[in-house]
Amino acid sequence: MSSRRDFLKITGLASVGAFTASSCKLQTQDKAKSVKTVRPIVVSTWKNGLHANKKAWEILSSGGRAIDAVEKGVMVVEADPDDITVGYGGLPDRDGFVTLDASIMDEKGNAGSVCALQNIMHPVSVARKVMEKTPHVMLAGEGALQFAVEQGFKEMNLLTEKAKKAWEKWKETSKYEPVINIENHDTIGMLAIDSAGNISGSCTTSGLAFKMHGRVGDSPIIGAGMYCDNEVGGAVATGMGELVMKTLGSFLVVELMRQGKSPQEAVEEAILRIVKKIPEYKKYQIGYLALDKNGNVGAYCLHKGFNYARYADNKSELIDADYYIKG
Ligand code: ASP
Repeated sequence: MSSRRDFLKITGLASVGAFTASSCKLQTQDKAKSVKTVRPIVVSTWKNGLHANKKAWEILSSGGRAIDAVEKGVMVVEADPDDITVGYGGLPDRDGFVTLDASIMDEKGNAGSVCALQNIMHPVSVARKVMEKTPHVMLAGEGALQFAVEQGFKEMNLLTEKAKKAWEKWKETSKYEPVINIENHDTIGMLAIDSAGNISGSCTTSGLAFKMHGRVGDSPIIGAGMYCDNEVGGAVATGMGELVMKTLGSFLVVELMRQGKSPQEAVEEAILRIVKKIPEYKKYQIGYLALDKNGNVGAYCLHKGFNYARYADNKSELIDADYYIKG
């Protein structure tokens, strides 16, 4: 398997995902807003979102809450040792530590997150505990681990043999140069609306492979990697987190929707913001996914290759996002 962090440098290679173009539906540029309300609905980033959505859908279709759906949904990917970008099996930092970032937000605007958390398989659940059991929003590193253990989470080694081998290979050159690849699985960001019409969001990742020890990305930063507002909708981000953090991408998308833009218009404008503000944008991939309160979805990215999973009306599908850099 190619290294996930080829994600950080465009290689010109086509997507290595198992899904062929014919199994994906190309996102249309149709900007007309649908008047029909789709509910419940769950969307999540990348191909592994299909597995996560399935779990989320079980909860949503039986009348469960969106906050439970977005937590339990992404936990499927956190527990998957074959996903080298999230949770257990995630690629380590340059010093060999698997450090995880995650965030969660509910319909009341409550939020929780953890960053640089080690040895806990489900950082999203720790983030939820931060949200529900503490007066804080974010816990980092040692403190996050201490809190997790106090809350009954079990410590374990998250570095799989496969991830360790990839790290050892990386150490042969130790080139600290973000390398972008477009694999069809990466950080998972999820947004769901339940039957009661409430929205929640989550985001979880092992961050950039071979990052500097202590580096934290956009995923646990409320408003950067994920944001939702029950009056408007939600957004999640994937890709080179530094670009998302500099433009507070998910908050921007939600605010644009608040001002009347469709989810598709909002994510396109957020990508344009990166293009305008960050001169070296072409070296990186960023993907945004947005959901408004009526169940309309928008997705857009810098480079071809970003896709998202959608589950609604008992139908699960993988959809290719439109992209900015063409030709
Ligand atoms: N956004 C994540 C980060 O920067 C990584 C990714 O989505 O690939 O940590």
